[in-house]
Amino acid sequence: VQVREFSTKAKSRKKSQSLRLAFLTALLLCMFAGGWLYLNKDVAYAPETSTSIGGPQSDAAPIKAGALKVFNGEQLRILYDTFAYPNTQPISDEAPITGNESADTHMRSLATAKGYKIRSAPVAMVLRDVGSGYLLQERASDPWLALQSAAAKDGISLSLTAAFRSADEQRDIFLQRLKLAGIVVSEVSSGKYDSQINRVLAMTALPGYSRHHTGYTIDVACPSQPAVIFEKSICFKWLSADNYVQAKERGWIPSYPEGTGPQGPDPEAWEYVWVGRDALTD
Ligand SMILES: [Zn+2]
Repeated sequence: VQVREFSTKAKSRKKSQSLRLAFLTALLLCMFAGGWLYLNKDVAYAPETSTSIGGPQSDAAPIKAGALKVFNGEQLRILYDTFAYPNTQPISDEAPITGNESADTHMRSLATAKGYKIRSAPVAMVLRDVGSGYLLQERASDPWLALQSAAAKDGISLSLTAAFRSADEQRDIFLQRLKLAGIVVSEVSSGKYDSQINRVLAMTALPGYSRHHTGYTIDVACPSQPAVIFEKSICFKWLSADNYVQAKERGWIPSYPEGTGPQGPDPEAWEYVWVGRDALTD
């Protein structure tokens, strides 16, 4: 009887021990899974936060491997047009401009004849405010600040007058210019206003056709010489010296390099686009 009793006790102890073990294992698994989910929640729900790739790590210290290449205007234009801008996709559906379909079609053909192209826009709207409300793609943000502070070290003050612009904002601007030029939308398709429209297009893109839609394009101003046209300013001299070495060092190239064919608006010496330094080395 005693032996039996003993063995029953031992059995029940064994049973409670294994139950406790199972409970502890389950508890540990739960803690593990919880911790994993917690650690990975940023990856799962916010793939492009300010700490993602291309963020603050970028071009603050411009000491990098790979010598910068020298580009002529045509090579810069090709690079501009073929570079795969991260987090962008081509604007596929051409939303109405004025709402008058034949006027819109006519203006699109005038724009295309001037070298305008449909551009890309951000896939995810994870743009960063780089000051005064100017928004840039994450990867271009630090390179802009790096360019600005490199210029400041040389006594040159650079500021922005434009960065990211949505197609809707571009539409508002374009419609305002049409109105100012006295263009009657219902008569646009007749060709009557072609010269006026071309004058507007020399300065202003149609919605969907602006280089600012990508979030990688900036318009730079030279606050220390506000009355001087940009290509005559100390800022342009600094940016463009030695085949744009200061700009290229931080991944920027001119939007409208010299010696290229029509690219839409009249060349804008103040406009730069980020392609990253890696695209500019051997
Ligand atoms: Zn611009």
